[in-house]
Amino acid sequence: MERFLQERLDALELSGGKRTLHVHKAQGLNLASNDYLGLASNIPLQQEFLRTLEDKPPLFSASSSRLLTGNVAAYEVLETTLARLFGTQSALVFNSGYHMNVGILPALCTDKTLILADKLVHASLIDGIRLSKGKFLRYAHNDLNHLETLLRTHHEAYEHIIVVTESIFSMDGDEADLKGLVALKHRYEKMVLYVDEAHGVGVRGESGLGCVQGCGCMGEIDILAGTFGKALASVGGYIACSALMREFLVNHMRTLIFTTALPPINLLWSTFVLERLSGFENARAQLAKVSTLLREGLVQKGYAHPSSSHIIPLMVGENAPTLKKARALQALGFYALPIRPPTVPKGTSRIRFSLTSLVQEADIRAILDVL
Ligand SMILES: *Cc1c(COP(=O)(O)O)cnc(C)c1O
Repeated sequence: MERFLQERLDALELSGGKRTLHVHKAQGLNLASNDYLGLASNIPLQQEFLRTLEDKPPLFSASSSRLLTGNVAAYEVLETTLARLFGTQSALVFNSGYHMNVGILPALCTDKTLILADKLVHASLIDGIRLSKGKFLRYAHNDLNHLETLLRTHHEAYEHIIVVTESIFSMDGDEADLKGLVALKHRYEKMVLYVDEAHGVGVRGESGLGCVQGCGCMGEIDILAGTFGKALASVGGYIACSALMREFLVNHMRTLIFTTALPPINLLWSTFVLERLSGFENARAQLAKVSTLLREGLVQKGYAHPSSSHIIPLMVGENAPTLKKARALQALGFYALPIRPPTVPKGTSRIRFSLTSLVQEADIRAILDVL
């Protein structure tokens, strides 16, 4: 085995694709974080939360699956809060966004299910597709004409067609046309719409509920998924859905059933943040402002990019020059990270700027000066 491991690692190193884990310490301006609203680094907010914990039951472990004794009261509170905010019958919380996306499709799909996924969906969704019994086709990125062609072609042959997309795409920072997808759903009755808002929730919509709120599509998505680990500064995944969908998943979803439930303290913190989410409009506005500034500045400098959000890729191409550019930025105090295959398609290595509300306009001007 040792020899096999070494040879494969050497090959990776040669292609510039080898990764290492390094201990992260604050190094200049963090441009690689998903703490989009600055909540994960908001100490007063955390202290306020900690003061609410006196007289609470044990906090640090659920000690069991939700299907056994791990389904503590804090789950009910969090899921009720989610359903109320999103205006759905129900909600269901998972240990992580990865557990969520790896588990939903295998639970729902039979060999009579077709999955149509956007070409650029997240690895966790791809893994869910691979584990499922459904047939799988990709449609060209954000190309609803291509999607409709596939829907039309295959509508007869399947019982259900699950269309899977992100709202804001994690690597390109561009956005799905949710309104267009909802319109398709109204035309194709077998279509089920599954939208992952990992990068939209908290950031978009007048009360921070995501792109779905921003585009007036609340209540129109069958499986509205999001994660707590990014803007919401916690841990876990969730879907807002019908009561029937929730009941089905509780009975069939292996990544929900066969894992220890989240610690109560995380559930309480997620609820605490969610209840304050509508109040973070200043952070949302700041994030929108600096994002526009960087997007427009990059274009002015001749760097074409697809982004319309706070995730902004500076496309380089090959691995080596991407690493070099990232190191140069880091040396000047801008902690931006290179993203390489297999996270992104070959030949599209990039610096991924992931902005937060803690970034100031002067920071953006300084970054643009360096480039
Ligand atoms: C980060 C991410 C996930 C995974 O969520 P975790 O809670 O970090 O496991 C799922 N989907 C998308 C689109 C993501 O960006």
